[in-house]
Amino acid sequence: MCEDHPERSRGVTHHASRITGGMMRFSKLVDYLAELEATTKRLEMTATLGRLFKEASEEDIAPIIYLTQERLGPAFEPIDFGIGEALAAEALVKATGKSKEDIKKLYKDCGDYGLVAEKLINDKTKRLSVVDVFDRLKEIATTSGEGTVEKKTRLLSDLLTQVTGHEARYVLRIPLGRLRLGIGDPTVMEGLSWSVTGDKTLRPQIERAYNVCSDLGQVAHVFKAEGVDALKKIKVQVGNPVRMALAERAKSAEDIVTRLGKCAIESKFDGFRCQIHKKGNDVRMFSRNLEETTAMFSDIAEGIRKQLKAKTAILEGEALAYDPDTGEFHPFQVTMQRKRKYDLEAMTVKYPLRLMAFDLLYVDGKDITGEGYAKRHETLASIITPDDKVQVAQHLVTQDAKEIEKYFMEAITGGLEGIMAKRLDSKYQAGARNYNWIKLKRSYQGHLSDTVDGVIVGYLRGRGMRARFGIGALLVAVYDDKQDKFTTVAKIGTGFSDVEWPQMREMLDKISVDHKPARVEAVMQPDVWVEPKYVIEMQADEITRSPIHTAGKVGDEPGYALRFPRVIGFIRTDKKPEDATTVKEILTMFGKQGKSKVSEQ
Ligand code: AMP
Repeated sequence: MCEDHPERSRGVTHHASRITGGMMRFSKLVDYLAELEATTKRLEMTATLGRLFKEASEEDIAPIIYLTQERLGPAFEPIDFGIGEALAAEALVKATGKSKEDIKKLYKDCGDYGLVAEKLINDKTKRLSVVDVFDRLKEIATTSGEGTVEKKTRLLSDLLTQVTGHEARYVLRIPLGRLRLGIGDPTVMEGLSWSVTGDKTLRPQIERAYNVCSDLGQVAHVFKAEGVDALKKIKVQVGNPVRMALAERAKSAEDIVTRLGKCAIESKFDGFRCQIHKKGNDVRMFSRNLEETTAMFSDIAEGIRKQLKAKTAILEGEALAYDPDTGEFHPFQVTMQRKRKYDLEAMTVKYPLRLMAFDLLYVDGKDITGEGYAKRHETLASIITPDDKVQVAQHLVTQDAKEIEKYFMEAITGGLEGIMAKRLDSKYQAGARNYNWIKLKRSYQGHLSDTVDGVIVGYLRGRGMRARFGIGALLVAVYDDKQDKFTTVAKIGTGFSDVEWPQMREMLDKISVDHKPARVEAVMQPDVWVEPKYVIEMQADEITRSPIHTAGKVGDEPGYALRFPRVIGFIRTDKKPEDATTVKEILTMFGKQGKSKVSEQ
């Protein structure tokens, strides 16, 4: 009844591309989206994006990037479309004159309002530009006040009456989050490079700019308008989160000394990473994946206003729940209670937070990311008046492995996660994970001393007892950040309860796709593929070589897999798929085990 149009999905019919002011027609973008949808190879995807970006004008490029990532702006400033399935159905009723029952029936057949719209809308005139559609969606998103739902419905149905059926498919899929293209930031960056050079050679310059401002629209605009050299002028600025520096692992205190020599040793606090931007009394906070958390952590914002002497600053630290009577930190499970969207005031009283500040990136109008760590930390200490809400993480400067060992033991005896070692003269390298920062964590039970964050890419139907859930195991991948791919590392069927399995299935069915997603590489075939979206934390006995997994696989060599994996907790809502453990980390963990076995599981 309600079928996809394969000829449309595959072939791009290049219509007259420009309308006034060098702007791209929305129909042109839609042709590209259909082409991207039909691709299962990342390289093809990058090349297609390259052509799209080449054809885009300076005005179009940012809206195009946001729309292909199902957004209306950078990820750190999410503008919720405010268009759910019920509203989409209602707008279709208005736009097509069909009854609600007809629309619902069609939807039941194909499970996609985009396809329903395509089927019902017969208009052939391509009137609107990309910018028109972007502006109209933004207008719908920002509509508020009395009668919001009616206003939004009217605006959306107006929009639907001005597009073709094929355009309508995407006009609905974008706000409903159903594009399912899975275009990650690295693919966009490489696409930008392709648009000029036909290869990915400009990615480092593009990535540097992106790491600093976290806004691919802004980066693409400068790149398009002024060329690659102009990207250098994108600087750290208060209000734009900086992509956070990350740590590598060490296996021992000696390992740290061998790599860093004399270095700063700090406690590794187990809470939420916070990047705090202060401009006068205006304080904003961002999480590790650059989501704004200001509303959640208002007590820390208050502390910053009171205790930070600088007028403008960007600082980082770890926020942890603590017991005001004893001054002791709570474990992560308690701190986690603060990550919620309701009862915020009550939570600040029940579980107050303290920020352990450890880095300073910007102070009183000056970007200091280029200064050494020791200097930045010293400046940080000089602008904070320590009190309950904000304190500076103390550190020990040493090159003595025994002293480091002692510090480590004290940290874990005190209930902390371990230690962080920092190279004294290291710059703050936005978005980089390297040995400027090294973590040494306490061991978990089992041989593998660390947990692995994996992304679910599919599931297998259960056998035996699990058959009644229709789900028995997950196919889980890690992230290859160099190639923007997800490669499998485990088939995991342990760790969820009988209540959690059906929940998991329901969540996964909402993001199921009928073929292997373009960014996933796998040998093992699950029964159901899903978009790489949900991150789970896993523990395992060890990492082994495995012919049936693709993580770290080169040519005909086996890949790497988790042996006896089990899930800890449920979905890690604080992590995006790209925040999962990387292939490189898996290889490092494997190297630290110092053995190599081939597993048959
Ligand atoms: P992991 O999440 O295991 O890769 O460890 C890195 C995280 O440790 C950072 O993102 C911070 O959230 C956290 N952390 C805790 N204490 C510190 C510290 N003293 N310096 C830097 N990061 C820290």
